[in-house]
Amino acid sequence: MEKKEFQAESKRLLEMMINSIYSQKEVFLRELISNASDAIDKIYYKALTDEQLTFEKDSYYIKVVPDKESRTLKIIDTGIGMTKEELENNLGVIAKSGSLAFKTENEIKDGHDIIGQFGVGFYAAFMVADVVTVISKAHGSDEAYKWESEGADGYSIETVRKDSIGTEIILKIKENTEDDNYDEYLEQYSIQTIIKKYSDFIRYPIKMEMSSSRPKEGSENEFEEFVEEQTINSMVPIWRKNKNELTNEDYDAFYMEKRYGFDKPLKHIHVSVDGTIRYNAILYIPEKIPFDYYSKEFEKGLELYSNGVLIMNKCADLLPDYFGFVKGMVDSEDLSLNISREILQHDRQLKLIAKNISKKIKSELQSLLKNDRAKYDEFYKSFGRQLKFGIYNDFGSNKEMLQDLIMFYSSKEKKMVTLDEYISRMTEEQKYIYYASGDSIERIDKLPQTEMVADKGYEILYFTEDIDEFAIKMLMTYKEKEFKSVSSGDLGIEADENEKEDQNEEHQDLFAAMKDTLAGKVKDVRASKRLKSHPVCLSADGEVTIEMEKVLNMMPD
Ligand code: ADP
Ligand code: MG
Repeated sequence: MEKKEFQAESKRLLEMMINSIYSQKEVFLRELISNASDAIDKIYYKALTDEQLTFEKDSYYIKVVPDKESRTLKIIDTGIGMTKEELENNLGVIAKSGSLAFKTENEIKDGHDIIGQFGVGFYAAFMVADVVTVISKAHGSDEAYKWESEGADGYSIETVRKDSIGTEIILKIKENTEDDNYDEYLEQYSIQTIIKKYSDFIRYPIKMEMSSSRPKEGSENEFEEFVEEQTINSMVPIWRKNKNELTNEDYDAFYMEKRYGFDKPLKHIHVSVDGTIRYNAILYIPEKIPFDYYSKEFEKGLELYSNGVLIMNKCADLLPDYFGFVKGMVDSEDLSLNISREILQHDRQLKLIAKNISKKIKSELQSLLKNDRAKYDEFYKSFGRQLKFGIYNDFGSNKEMLQDLIMFYSSKEKKMVTLDEYISRMTEEQKYIYYASGDSIERIDKLPQTEMVADKGYEILYFTEDIDEFAIKMLMTYKEKEFKSVSSGDLGIEADENEKEDQNEEHQDLFAAMKDTLAGKVKDVRASKRLKSHPVCLSADGEVTIEMEKVLNMMPD
């Protein structure tokens, strides 16, 4: 038996890593399973070129075996295995990736699925184990070896017997401490949960013996325990399946399984892009607002997978705030990850994906608007406010993205209409898109200011939410038509100016007296042509309307 020491740098690196790279200890399992999957992939690639070798899919699997008694967790694979040299080079030298080398040597560029690249994942095992033992027999080799290490002190290597090709990793799980519970890595249900979370879409079966109970034969209320080997992972991710083979139920089930929400999604969007950056995405527009949506607790974001392995639970950069309600996932094989696989190294690719996704969400919402108005109305009830906020907080392209999606209640149609629909009904002489602000539709209906515009036969959009007018002020125009509040000074409607002037002169004294009495509250008192059945109304001069003033006054300084 030979005993070797890690190189000095490796020692420091290992300590650093064990303590700092990963934010969650449970990812050790993701790393070891990813390595096992890589090892099977390598056999698969070998079989492609080696006629002696046939790849029988059924005989390749990963097996996870917890044993409480010995406090061990085994991860067994039927992959390519490691020679003595490989054990030394790949496990004895930190930051050396045999998988990366394999990809280079075999010129595997496109469509590859090999996950490893940094040569550090394996050491994550030391976050949860005092001793790590690796028993491996390489493809094409008669000898098997045992590599063992207690962490930073180095490792030992010796010859052992192993019949089949492949690798067995044995973790001696740490004892619980006050801060950390390690027992969970010996519990079949928590292991199952971790596998489902990170490795559900590894393409080879991850098997585990699961105990459960069933009714005893011949008895109705007696149960018996039994143990059964189960495949834990789903293997083929839904987003890699052909869209034609998937039903609405499949998408709904995925939404439920992933716990994106407790409602049924209003709509799903399945995107497969094979361009400069390749990715698959499944996105959902929820039916209902999540209960914490407008609270600080709410975190927007999509799940991010790299090659079927979960990298980030909520990648916020994938969604603009105004589409923050969208749920779902993105999987790409083209992402450059950093070594912890938690933070992305370059966000150029991510930005590109995010941009495409936003465009896609927009076009899908537009098609919903066009083809299923009832559903769109439902969506808009939940999330319209968010879209209007998006316009208000414009950082460049928001207006473009959102102006076709917003709707307001129409005085004429008595329902929600889009700006485009409004424009399409404008007559030639109508200069502006008119709107009136108020607390509710009923209140606005009674506003004296609306009479003149309505009398002209013009449609009025009702702004009942605080954000409405602010959003419109940011928009300024829609398809070159300006917005105009019905309570603004100049309505752009021809009136008999003479008559108005006459009246102003005629009642000069009365108006002066009224102005005096209301000093500080109004700027001017004038005769108005726009009133019909109401004796008086307030109107605003300039940009800020009365409704906006109300909102502004409510804001803290
Ligand atoms: P990475 O996976 O990024 O290359 P790891 O530290 O996870 O880095 O693994 C280091 C190397 O050890 C791998 O590249 C691979 O060559 C080898 N290796 C690890 N686990 C196995 C395994 N189960 N079977 C075969 N080779 C393995
Ligand atoms: Mg790895």
